[in-house]
Amino acid sequence: LEPSYQFMIRVRTPGGAATSEQWLMMDRMAHQYGNGTLKLTTRQAFQLHGILKWNVKSYMQEMNRVLLDSLAACGDVNRNVMCNVIPAHSKVHQEVYDWSVKVSEHLLPKTQAYHEIWLDGEKVHTTPQVDETEPIYGELYLPRKFKIGIAIPPSNDTDIYSQDIGLIAIIENEQLLGFNLTVGGGMGMTHGDDETYPQLGRLIGFVTPDQLLLTVEKIVTIQRDYGNRIERKNARFKYTIDHNGLDWFEKELEQRIGFKLEEAKKFHFEHNGDRYGWLEDEKGNWHFTLFIQNGRVKDFDNYPLMTGLREIAKVHSGNFLMTPNQNLVIANIEASNKVVIEQLIEKYHLTDGKMYSALRRNSIACVSMPTCGLAMAEAERYLPSLITKIEEILDRVGLRDEAINIRMSGCPNGCSRAAIGEIGFIGKGPGKYNMYLGAAFNGERLNKIFKENINEEQILEQLNIIIPHYAKERLEEEHFGDFTIRAGYVKATTDGVNFHEK
Ligand code: SF4
Repeated sequence: LEPSYQFMIRVRTPGGAATSEQWLMMDRMAHQYGNGTLKLTTRQAFQLHGILKWNVKSYMQEMNRVLLDSLAACGDVNRNVMCNVIPAHSKVHQEVYDWSVKVSEHLLPKTQAYHEIWLDGEKVHTTPQVDETEPIYGELYLPRKFKIGIAIPPSNDTDIYSQDIGLIAIIENEQLLGFNLTVGGGMGMTHGDDETYPQLGRLIGFVTPDQLLLTVEKIVTIQRDYGNRIERKNARFKYTIDHNGLDWFEKELEQRIGFKLEEAKKFHFEHNGDRYGWLEDEKGNWHFTLFIQNGRVKDFDNYPLMTGLREIAKVHSGNFLMTPNQNLVIANIEASNKVVIEQLIEKYHLTDGKMYSALRRNSIACVSMPTCGLAMAEAERYLPSLITKIEEILDRVGLRDEAINIRMSGCPNGCSRAAIGEIGFIGKGPGKYNMYLGAAFNGERLNKIFKENINEEQILEQLNIIIPHYAKERLEEEHFGDFTIRAGYVKATTDGVNFHEK
């Protein structure tokens, strides 16, 4: 008898987009093979938990029927390419989104192994074949995973500074000129090892759309050739750049692409959160951003979220966009269908979150326990109750509607991008967290350690001091993260390499 192994399956969805047909399939599969829930991740992908080993192949084949796959959703390759989800300017947004798909496709491994193993392709080869050469990844693939995201200012919802490559769409007069390029961001670290740290991407220039694929490809090959293959903890691209220097990297890139990058163009980020509720685009289509706490789609007591979305998918001719903050946009609703969707939103009590505090609407927790094997402390199952207690403090000082980013990760891998939360928590052990303060509201500055290894009582004790202080002494429009630095609670982190300095 074989033990009943269960798996997590992550589905590749560039830009977080899924059609109604795909949504219905994911819903059905979650019930048939999974734990009856869907997790929308911080990389705009579906995760399904609890797939028993003998069901994995059927699952992969069902996905394939609706043109979804799990190819390169894990492993030491380029992962799901993220893209801004706010379609206010629908034509240019579509163009930018199309680039996220092109980048994703361009960087897919060329191996047929996925098809052979899961989709009943030809027999799996046991030795490398000549026709299996990976033009980008080579024989050894990358030293670690690799992440790319695209932002459309003023929204930095994809947290492009957390990505190995960040692309900032530059749009003028409703025309996409190209992308500013950041390199070398990444959130993961290891507790107790100061040689590891979260880092933000550095802005190095601008590329036109026709230069984009070549440029990202060559950046990936630099990491392939120079990434650390001896020490896995130092193998991410951010360390390759930090160890060799940005000047070295820029020269190496220039040599590989055969041209000099243009100077980065002006842009401005305002926030890295989601904007909820209804939005009409220039084509007259409608989009509704739903608040989905920590990305968990299921039927809760008195809140049939999963059923409601299923009923919407049955009549929705547009698509669904998973946001980088784990929320969901019911996107591209035709004007003629808006009333029907509105009625379903009302019937199933789906919400844009306006009844919640702005803190809760700006919260992210990673999945953590019980399904993540790396978890050291709770995150998704715990953060909502902690926020309820913090809301009592906010209510007392009149800050319920003040947007503050709060992020919690169950371990220092950083899936919730906790190192860029204005209030960040990273799990240390059961019920214990390191607490970080001082990140920028728009994702342009990392936070800094404030207290180590503290429990809920200690967290609330600290916030009972800092939040009322902020309410009393903040400057006009001063964000919480900026205040905690000005008031001396933490120093500003100016570079990931000094993240651990107090
Ligand atoms: Fe990621 Fe760690 Fe959270 Fe697991 S516990 S989801 S690895 S941050």
